[in-house]
Amino acid sequence: MIRTRFAPSPTGFLHVGGLRTALYSYLLAKQAGGKFLLRIEDTDRERFVEGAILSLVHALTWTGIMPDEGVRHVIDGEPVQEGDKGPYIQSERLEIYRKYAQELLEKGHAYYCFCTPERLEELRARQQVYKQPTIYDRHCLAIDLVEAKERIKKGEAHVIRLKMPQEGETVFTDLIRGEVRFDNKLIDDQVLVKSDGYPTYHLAVVVDDHLMEISHVVRGEEWISSTPKHIQLYKYFGWEMPQFAHLSLILNPDKSKLSKRQGDVAVEDYQAKGYLPEALVNFLAFLGWNPGTEKEMYTMDELIKDFSLEKVSKAGAVFNVEKLNWFNKEYIKRLPLSEVVERAMPWLKERFKIERLKDYPLEKVIELERERVTTLAELPEAVKFVFELSNYPKELLVWRKGTLQEVQKILPELKEFLDSLQEKEWNKTGLESRVGEWIKEKGYSTGSVLWPLRVALSGQQNSPGPYEIAEVLGREESLRRLGLALSKVGG
Ligand code: GLU
Repeated sequence: MIRTRFAPSPTGFLHVGGLRTALYSYLLAKQAGGKFLLRIEDTDRERFVEGAILSLVHALTWTGIMPDEGVRHVIDGEPVQEGDKGPYIQSERLEIYRKYAQELLEKGHAYYCFCTPERLEELRARQQVYKQPTIYDRHCLAIDLVEAKERIKKGEAHVIRLKMPQEGETVFTDLIRGEVRFDNKLIDDQVLVKSDGYPTYHLAVVVDDHLMEISHVVRGEEWISSTPKHIQLYKYFGWEMPQFAHLSLILNPDKSKLSKRQGDVAVEDYQAKGYLPEALVNFLAFLGWNPGTEKEMYTMDELIKDFSLEKVSKAGAVFNVEKLNWFNKEYIKRLPLSEVVERAMPWLKERFKIERLKDYPLEKVIELERERVTTLAELPEAVKFVFELSNYPKELLVWRKGTLQEVQKILPELKEFLDSLQEKEWNKTGLESRVGEWIKEKGYSTGSVLWPLRVALSGQQNSPGPYEIAEVLGREESLRRLGLALSKVGG
């Protein structure tokens, strides 16, 4: 059974790079009928941020990357865990780590270290001067366990360190990078348990991935140098190792590491800006993965079917916001209208009074502009002319090839004609054919009629066509707006 996990630390918001990692892990599990877990790695108490678990769960739920096991919901501010291998929040598993740290000490695979932060600082400074690798010099390795325990009893501060082998190499096959080798003597005797008694990430991640029966560890490339330490721990414990897949970095267009300075990095920022989760997921799937075909639009189900780690690139992927915008536009175009309305509602309600929104058929209002906007957040501005007619200058009613006199002549005639039309003809096609005939009959040029009509209805230089707007506004409001235009030009 394939079991994957996403194991974020609750240090703030979910980074889009983290979301991509979660997505790839999820796809890998789902396509094999396996399970995807959410585990919270909160053993670094200094970096813990209140509310971060909620924001992680929220971002995953929003994008449809739902864990099967682990932390699945947050209800009344409390994380809800499901599954028989819990708890899935590391701070609730301290006893477990303690037990395994003891096992390593007893077997001689780990040792107590009493070095003070000052000594370690001095050591590092010295190594830097001599251009040596900055790793622990094993000062405390020789202290035997009985003596160490005595010192601990007396209250001396200490950590527990992994005893890395000094010879040979650690070699593993990464599912994305192929064979990866590390020279053991350059690997630090990693701290496994800190002086506050909490395990470090390295001990906790190995113990948990083992106990939670994780088969594939998918994570960011920044963790690759930690992997040999983890492999050594699997060996010491005599556990079967998971497969590893390290994803390359996500880059800014200038090839630097994706950073806040050059754009948004938090999933919630994209949500707040009116990006659709489908678009973000589709876009992130392609940041590193490429199916090798022309197909670009992928639903989650299609991703589950087609995704494969073999087609994930080793090279860093550039976060191209233009491409994300393209995806978002496409999804806004393709979603059922009712769905777009529902999703745009928070933005519409923020901008317009709810009573105003009830005055017009919202689906038709949104249909006017949905092909032109990039994000849902742009919709209120794009459709505002429906709800609020601007106080435009009368010159705007004059077509570029026309004159004010012409408008003064045509507009009253047009209004009279429109007045004569029945309610049932007041729709896009009805108006199109009746007004079209009228223009011909009168011998006017199309622009000289449709331009002022459109401006009278929209109050804007640019807008959708007059018939569509007229249908959405309805007969009464359209005629009222025409009346206003007439009073501007003195007709
Ligand atoms: N807690 C680590 C992080 O914050 C997880 C790394 C891993 O997936 O092993 O990214």
